[in-house]
Amino acid sequence: MNNLNIALCCKRCGNILIQQPDGFVCNYCMQTYPIEDSIVLMEEKNKEIDLRIGDNLLDLYKLRDERKYYNSYIQSNVEYLARLHSVNFPNFHTKLLSPYISNSTIVDLGCGQLPYINSFPDTINTYYGLDLSKESLVIAQQNFKRKFRLVLVHHGIKDTPFHDGSVDIVLSSEVLEHLDDPFGYLREINRILKDGGHLSLSTPCVSIYFYPANLFSVLVKPFIWYKEVNAHRYWKEALKWHPALQPSILRRWLVKTGFSVERHESRLWYYGSSPKLVWRFFSFLEKMGVDSSYKMFGKCLELTDRLLASNLPVIKWCGIRQFVLVKKVSNIKGR
Ligand SMILES: [Zn+2]
Repeated sequence: MNNLNIALCCKRCGNILIQQPDGFVCNYCMQTYPIEDSIVLMEEKNKEIDLRIGDNLLDLYKLRDERKYYNSYIQSNVEYLARLHSVNFPNFHTKLLSPYISNSTIVDLGCGQLPYINSFPDTINTYYGLDLSKESLVIAQQNFKRKFRLVLVHHGIKDTPFHDGSVDIVLSSEVLEHLDDPFGYLREINRILKDGGHLSLSTPCVSIYFYPANLFSVLVKPFIWYKEVNAHRYWKEALKWHPALQPSILRRWLVKTGFSVERHESRLWYYGSSPKLVWRFFSFLEKMGVDSSYKMFGKCLELTDRLLASNLPVIKWCGIRQFVLVKKVSNIKGR
């Protein structure tokens, strides 16, 4: 399977792009897409932006490798463990996709800083990362250490520059919950995937609203809580609070857009959420001078992840992020 050149195509005429030292050039209409800081610039100006970009960019690699949260050094071991857990959780995509990776073309839609890129093996053919944040792509490029071909493209997730049925794998990590048209997004993924190709997708799981700390809202503001739990019915409004989907709704959406579900699991994610209570508890112990508090916290995280991976009914959906691996089984174009 030699498909080095077949994936990226011209936005203007749809023909194949040829890589040159300073950019990609269309071999039909001669349109040039320049490369700046190793990033291919393909996003047209003044186009409607469909993905909300964070104002403050947190460098996930600095967090992991230098214990830096924004610009301050993380003193506390408990805090470092909690934040590290939140950076490393997307590595689950690598695990889900491992049987299909060899010699594949992967497209990562809304790839951000690619905090999981170095967890992929060198057997990948080409990895395309698309994102609207050029700053994030620069960080991704600086930290890339593998030997496979990585092409970073400044481009959103609508009308992506790939031919129909040209991609083996699509990866979507924490993107769906930011989009005004999630169905259009899943349809676009269906369009670019080959028949039998795989999508690994993660998005918040509704379980977060059933955590003890959040159950209080049922009493205080029951209607808002109802809307949070049924975000799929109030999607446009829910975008403001970063919607978390019911697992069954996510599966229904994927089946409707031409996929069959192969695996569906949940995992924890500590950063900025109610499980922070556990983090606070161990932080308190640490402040009180209990030396082993961060070790106990680490064990606690490990145990929770094991419980979630055990497939025990109900428990397996307690994670606040859900990961789903699906296969394209039908072509929905034109439906
Ligand atoms: Zn062209």
